[in-house]
Formats: sequence, structure tokens, C-alpha cells
Amino acid sequence: AGLVVAMDGPSGSGKSSVSRGVARALGLRYLDTGAMYRAMTWWMLRQGVDVADAAAVAARCGEPALVSGTDPDAPAIHVDGVDVAGPIRQADVTGAVSAVAAVPEVRRRLVALQREIVGDGDIVVEGRDIGTVVCPDAGVKVYLTASAEARARRRSAEVTGSTVEAQQADMARRDTLDSTRTTDPLSMAAGAVELDTTELTLDEVIAEVLRLVKE
Ligand code: C5P
Repeated sequence: AGLVVAMDGPSGSGKSSVSRGVARALGLRYLDTGAMYRAMTWWMLRQGVDVADAAAVAARCGEPALVSGTDPDAPAIHVDGVDVAGPIRQADVTGAVSAVAAVPEVRRRLVALQREIVGDGDIVVEGRDIGTVVCPDAGVKVYLTASAEARARRRSAEVTGSTVEAQQADMARRDTLDSTRTTDPLSMAAGAVELDTTELTLDEVIAEVLRLVKE
């Protein structure tokens, strides 16, 4: 089987940039599982489903057709044939995604889809439960962290019209929900290597992961 690199960590830890850089350097595919939870959330909001109603979310989460691209140079995600790469980054989706991701039926469906995409490997997979649940046999498991301030700073550089303080508050809320939910909370996998990126540049983090892969 091919290599699987599992990349987990809280929001703003640099997972996406690092994962894409590593995939590019090694000629691997790339899967953004957060985008799948976001796409599911986008669909629920569009359907008018009350995302605070876990039973309603569970009842409908089998309906949308989700298709994820795996090219690190062109991350793509479609729901029922609609390109949602832009809309899934907007505030309404970001505000609702942790509630949707906490619903066990949603996770069951998306984890199954993710395992299908991973298949025989040759892929970098980023998320919150990759080393623990989706790919527990991954050859390399990385747990990225960074100080709350560094994470908020990076995120507010990506999202226009938002202050560092607002980002920090929103991330803290999301991290609490993601780490305290009952089904597959964010946690460091057995065998994972923790990498604190607070004082490192993107290229330094990528180099460190490439070193882990070669070990
Ligand atoms: O990585 P990103 O911030 O785009 O993820 C959005 C949300 O999706 C997370 O806050 C979390 O609630 C959920 N998620 C998850 N499991 C994953 C990936 C993301 O629960 N593997």
C-alpha cells in the first residue's frame, strides 16, 4: 500500500498549507476532510435544515452528493455538481460546521467517503480525526499546534474584514466544540509526532514533515 500522511490539529495550526506543500514535494494526492464537513454544512444551510437540531441533520445527511478533488495544486469540492470551494469558507458555514460535525451519522458517512478516497494511499489527509479514526494505520502521523495568538493571526490574514480578536474568539469556540464532542473529538493519535509551528516558517514545517516521512 502507498504512503498515508495523517495531518491533524486545531484550526489555524497551518494544516492546509503544510499538507499541500508536503503532497506537492512528494507527488502525493491531498484530501481536505474539513472541506467535506463544510460542504455538508453548506448544503444543510441551503436546505433550511436547523443545524442545532441533530436529529434533523442526521435524517438528511445521506442526501447530498459530495465529490472531493485530491490535487494539492487545485483543491476542489462539489455538492450535487455545484462548486462550493468559495462558499464553504464564509462565516455562516464556519459558524455552523462544528455543530454539524458533531452529529455521529454525519461522521459515519464522511469517514466512509474519506476511506474510499484514501484507498491504497499515496495521499496526505488533513483533519481532526485522521490519525485516530480515518487512517489509524497511517505511516506518518503529525499533530500540528501553534499558540492561540499565532493561529488567529494566520487566519485573519486569510479572511478579509476580520480582526485578530474576532478570529481568536471564533477559533476558541470552534476548538472547544471540536475537542469536547462525544464522537471522535480532536485529540492526538497514538504514534503521532507533535509539531509546534508557532516559531516556524511554512517551509520549515514542511521540511520537518518531509524529514519524518524519510525516517
Ligand atoms: O479544517 P477546517 O477548519 O476547515 O474544518 C472545519 C470543521 O470541520 C472543524 O471545525 C470541525 O468541526 C470539522 N472537522 C471534523 N473532522 C475533520 C475535519 C474537520 O470534525 N476530520
